[in-house]
Amino acid sequence: MSSPAGAGDSVGLGGPSAPPPGLFIHGVNVLDETGGFGGPLDVLVAAGVVRAVAKDLSPGASEVMLDGDGLWLLPGIFDCHLHTGLSSFDTLELLRTPFSRRVLETADVLRRTLAAGVTFVRDAGIADAGIRDGVAAGYVPGPTMQVSVVAIGSTGGHTDGFLTGPGLECSVDYSLPDYPGRPPNLADGPEEMRKTVRLALRSGADWIKLIATRGVLATSDGGFDPELSFEDLVAAVLEASRRHRPVMVHALGGEAIRWAILAGARSIEHGVFLTEADAAAMAARGCFLVPTLAIYERLAASARSGDLDPGRASRAIAVGEHLGDAVQIARAAGVKVALGTDFGHRIDHGRNLSELALLHRAGLSVEEALLAATSVGAELCGVADRLGRIAPGYQFDAILLDSEPTDLASLSEPGAVTGVFQRGTPIVRHPRLRNAAATTTLI
Ligand SMILES: [Zn+2]
Repeated sequence: MSSPAGAGDSVGLGGPSAPPPGLFIHGVNVLDETGGFGGPLDVLVAAGVVRAVAKDLSPGASEVMLDGDGLWLLPGIFDCHLHTGLSSFDTLELLRTPFSRRVLETADVLRRTLAAGVTFVRDAGIADAGIRDGVAAGYVPGPTMQVSVVAIGSTGGHTDGFLTGPGLECSVDYSLPDYPGRPPNLADGPEEMRKTVRLALRSGADWIKLIATRGVLATSDGGFDPELSFEDLVAAVLEASRRHRPVMVHALGGEAIRWAILAGARSIEHGVFLTEADAAAMAARGCFLVPTLAIYERLAASARSGDLDPGRASRAIAVGEHLGDAVQIARAAGVKVALGTDFGHRIDHGRNLSELALLHRAGLSVEEALLAATSVGAELCGVADRLGRIAPGYQFDAILLDSEPTDLASLSEPGAVTGVFQRGTPIVRHPRLRNAAATTTLI
C-alpha cells in the first residue's frame, strides 16, 4: 500500500482540554457490521461522536473536511492482548533499566501504538491504573486503555520470576519490578486468590488476568500442566464478578483451558492447543478466544534462526507448528475471536495490525478478521455500545486506509494507516484533511 509522504508521523495530543472539531468526510467507503464496506457514504461527526452515516449529507457547521473519494474508513483497531509496559525480553537489560526509563518508554510505546491505528488496548499485565489514567488525562497520546495491572499466577509458576542465585523474589521474567502500590502477583489456594484479586482490583484493575499454564518463553521445562487449580480459578472469577470485573486466562492447552472455561473466564488467551471440546464449551458460555498469533510467529522465527536458547526454542517451534489451529477450531464451533498481539518488545510495538493477516491465514475471512479487530474486540471489552463501529451514536475512533484492505498483509507495516482519529480529533492527520491545523496539537 502506498503511504503518502508525511502520513503517520504526526501524532496529536488529544487530551480532554482539546475540544474535538466538527468533522465531515465526503464519499468514503465505510466498514459495516458484516465486515464488508458500504459506500461511498458521507460521515458527520460532532463533539467526537458520529451523528450520521448516509449518502448526500450536509456538512453543516463542520470545521474539518475530508474528501473521502477512494479512501476506506474503519473503526479504530482493538488490540485485546498486549503489554505496553514491556519493551524487551532480555533479563539483564530489564534488571539494569531504571523503572522511570521504562515508564517513559511505555509512553513511547503508547504513542506508536496509537499512530498504528490502535485506539483501544486491553493491557494484559504491567501497565497499571496510573498509566491508563495518565493517558486518559491527555499527558501523553495513547489508546484508550483497560488494564489488568498484574498477571496472577502461582508460586513456581509462569509469573514467578524468583531469582535462584541471589534468592530474591521477583515477578515474571523480571518484567515487572516491585514499586509502591504494585499489588502482588502470586496466589496459592482459593483463600489467597480471593485476597490477591481484591488487591488487584483495589489498585484499579479493569480485568483480572490469571496465568493457568506456562508460556512459550518459560525458562523451565514442563508441558502445559495447570498451574492454578480449578478452585483457584473459581475463586478468582467469583471475586472479580462481585465487582463486575471480567477474568482473562492465559492458557496454552490441556486441562487448564477446560477449567478456565468452566470457572467462567471471559476470554482464553493464546489457547494454542485448543480442542474441539474446549471450543464447544467456550461457544456455549460465550467465552472469547484471543489467539495472539503475531508474537508466536515471531518467536518461532527467532527460534529457527538460533536467537533463543534451546529450551525456549523447542517450545517456540512446537507452538509455531500449531499456529492458527485454534483459530480454525474456534471458528468452526462458533467461538468469537478477538485480535490480540501479545506484543511486549520494542521491535514489535507499532506493528499491531500484522495480526490481521495472520488471523486471515489461520482461517478467518477478511471480513471476519476486520470484525475481530473492531466490533468483536469492543464486545469482549464491554464497550460495544459506544465503540467498535462507524455508526450514529458511536464515539469517532477511526482509521483511514488509502486502498481497500483485501490484502491484509499490506497493513503489517507502520505507516499503512494514513489517518487516525480519536474521539473525533485527528491524531494522525491524513494529507487530505482540510482546516485541521487549528484544532490539532502536534508533539
Ligand atoms: Zn501476554
